[in-house]
Amino acid sequence: MTAIKDSHLENQSFWQHDYGHYSPNAALTQNLNADVAIIGGGFTGLNTAWQFKKDNPNARVVVLEGAIIGFGASGRNAGFSTKLFGLEPEMVLLRWGKQKMIDAHHYLKKAVAHTQNLIETHGFQSDYCHTGMVRISYSQQQLDRMKKTYQLLQDLGIDGDLTWQNRDRIRQDFHSERFIGGIYETDTAHLNPCKQVRELKRLAESAGVEIYEASPVTRIERAATAITVATEKGRVVADKVVIATNAYSREVPDSRTLKARQYPLWTYQIVTEPLTAAQWESIGWKDRQSFGDNRQMLHYYRPTVDGRIAMGGGDAIVYKTGALVETPSAMSWKHCEAHLKWIYPQLKDVRIDYRWGGPVSVNVDMVPEISFVDDERIIYAGGCFGHGVALTHLNGRTIADLLNGQKTELTDFWIVNRKSISMPNDTLSFLGGRVARQALKAWDWWEERSLKDI
Ligand SMILES: Cc1cc2nc3c(=O)[nH]c(=O)nc-3n(C[C@H](O)[C@H](O)[C@H](O)COP(=O)(O)OP(=O)(O)OC[C@H]3O[C@@H](n4cnc5c(N)ncnc54)[C@H](O)[C@@H]3O)c2cc1C
Repeated sequence: MTAIKDSHLENQSFWQHDYGHYSPNAALTQNLNADVAIIGGGFTGLNTAWQFKKDNPNARVVVLEGAIIGFGASGRNAGFSTKLFGLEPEMVLLRWGKQKMIDAHHYLKKAVAHTQNLIETHGFQSDYCHTGMVRISYSQQQLDRMKKTYQLLQDLGIDGDLTWQNRDRIRQDFHSERFIGGIYETDTAHLNPCKQVRELKRLAESAGVEIYEASPVTRIERAATAITVATEKGRVVADKVVIATNAYSREVPDSRTLKARQYPLWTYQIVTEPLTAAQWESIGWKDRQSFGDNRQMLHYYRPTVDGRIAMGGGDAIVYKTGALVETPSAMSWKHCEAHLKWIYPQLKDVRIDYRWGGPVSVNVDMVPEISFVDDERIIYAGGCFGHGVALTHLNGRTIADLLNGQKTELTDFWIVNRKSISMPNDTLSFLGGRVARQALKAWDWWEERSLKDI
């Protein structure tokens, strides 16, 4: 197993390294009036800012990013632009029923198409590859469950882009003896998330959005006439505010009601050194589609444009320290590397060049939400789990509709102003997260107990 030699490589994503030099904007040092102030410069905040400004060219739109653009999940995720929503489809069905599950599928399908369209229309240089994704099973138990899921999606009529792949078919693409079957879905892409979020910054600024970095919001004050959003050295007095802080939302000041909405869950990734042509040849994977496994604690794999493998998952950890404290996990990185080499023993000597982690936003009922906070002038979005890339892009359009006071097909989507179940206090949220993690790990252990060397 490769030891972690360089602590500087920890917790800054490969994408951030790969981006190279980045010049952040200056911090807010003055007092401004704005139509809309947006807290958080990730996919949610920047998409919202751009969409609203496009609709209202004369409006003043200000984004306040606490760190730099690309610091949050948007700059460190795995870059899957996917239709995944919540946890297992069966659980969404059980909790929310058939129609809401179908509606969610259509919203996410639209989200993937919307993201692609945005990238192509505006010439984003974010390494977008629409190569599809395969969901893999390793054990017979996983395969049996996958067959039931496939049947369910067929019964609901939401299997349009899915194809069943048996062992022989899947091994034509992937030279791994661990793969025994799967489902290929065409409607998934992968991209470079750090380039994507900074391309969004470029687009928003070109439309006239003002973006301040290194400007953490320390206070939100609501008055009848306006809302004041204060940072250490300046403030914005706005008619409306969007809280686009995702997994960091528990730490947003003056947001008592937000504290109960979600909890951060940490997930970890690794990236290999660039593989040689012979190594690529040995593992197949010619079409460079992404893949993920049919586990509760999912592992996900994708290639990078410079010939590396990026992968992660297999665990998700709750900490008492919240989202802002960077929390390395040598155990998770070791697990990721072992899993990569379990799938592909051909790569046993491959070096791991990058390791990092980041918080995803999880809520009790396991599906995202976009909600007004106390009154209609403040909008919050969160709970995207590890499936927020495409979702947050479309959510930006949905939130812009809400800011415009318009009722649209998007604002009618049932996650908008749904009644979410409150998170318990910090201790209970933490303990609940730990219990859920153990339960999901036990489920995976049970389904994989017959596998060798895992
Ligand atoms: C390791 C990892 C892998 C993932 N992989 C995938 C994937 O492959 N596919 C997928 O669909 N999803 C994935 N996700 C989830 C996805 O990245 C997120 O759902 C999405 O990026 C959320 O975007 P956002 O803009 O809402 O939040 P973020 O990108 O987290 O942005 C929030 C921003 O708010 C800022 N902020 C916080 N507090 C303040 C404050 N007080 N004042 C000002 N600014 C503040 C933060 O600095 C941050 O930049 C992954 C997430 C992680 C962590």
